Amino acid sequence: MRGVLTRWVVPVRCAGCRRQPAHLCCHCLTTLQFALPFCLICDQYSPHGLIHKTCTHLTIQHISLFYYNHVARNLLKLYKKKPYKAYAQAFNQLLKYYLHFDPFYLTQKIPNNNVSIIYPASTRSKSLGYDHIKILVPLVAQGFNIRNWKAVAAYRSKKQAKQLKTIKSKTKRAEFLLRHSYTIRPKALRPHSNILIIDDVTTTSVTLLSLVNAVINSGVPFKSITTFTFFKVRLN
Ligand SMILES: [Zn+2]
Ligand SMILES: [Zn+2]
Repeated sequence: MRGVLTRWVVPVRCAGCRRQPAHLCCHCLTTLQFALPFCLICDQYSPHGLIHKTCTHLTIQHISLFYYNHVARNLLKLYKKKPYKAYAQAFNQLLKYYLHFDPFYLTQKIPNNNVSIIYPASTRSKSLGYDHIKILVPLVAQGFNIRNWKAVAAYRSKKQAKQLKTIKSKTKRAEFLLRHSYTIRPKALRPHSNILIIDDVTTTSVTLLSLVNAVINSGVPFKSITTFTFFKVRLN
């Protein structure tokens, strides 16, 4: 009954086109293309989404579901504003749609037990009253059927966040991000857990790699690292 009422008060509109009464309508879903598995370091194709051995010695698997397009842009824009919960359901739908096909068999290797799910904490979460990536954590855990998981925030200091805002050049931003990694409270991480790092969208993988750095810098031993985003911006 409650669901019916909220739907009546806030009518659900497709986050992609704002027309159809769905979280994401069939038309918008089919405009999305499955992202090919790639290496986080060199951005080139890589089977199973693993980092090439020639790129780094670390074993990290990465999964991006879809290439970023106009539907993704609309969804991400709306999702950052209120009412966020209705749009969070659109992410749920994206995950289900992808898992139905699982076109590159990437999701089979995602650890489903004893997982620390790491997300980049928003620096504006206090003023907004919510953290938009944190809301996606349980959705991702449920989507991948993960039992026994824990959400872990990765923080960037306010001073660094301010500095970052002033840097306009993309390469300089990337350099800054890699140098000033996120930090994770060592006590928050379960020792010997599988690490799943999540974000909404990635372009050059810099944020993801910076989060990987934060895990390594925390000094807490881990079993494996997987990184995940809903969207991937094509670089060429
Ligand atoms: Zn639509
Ligand atoms: Zn590579």
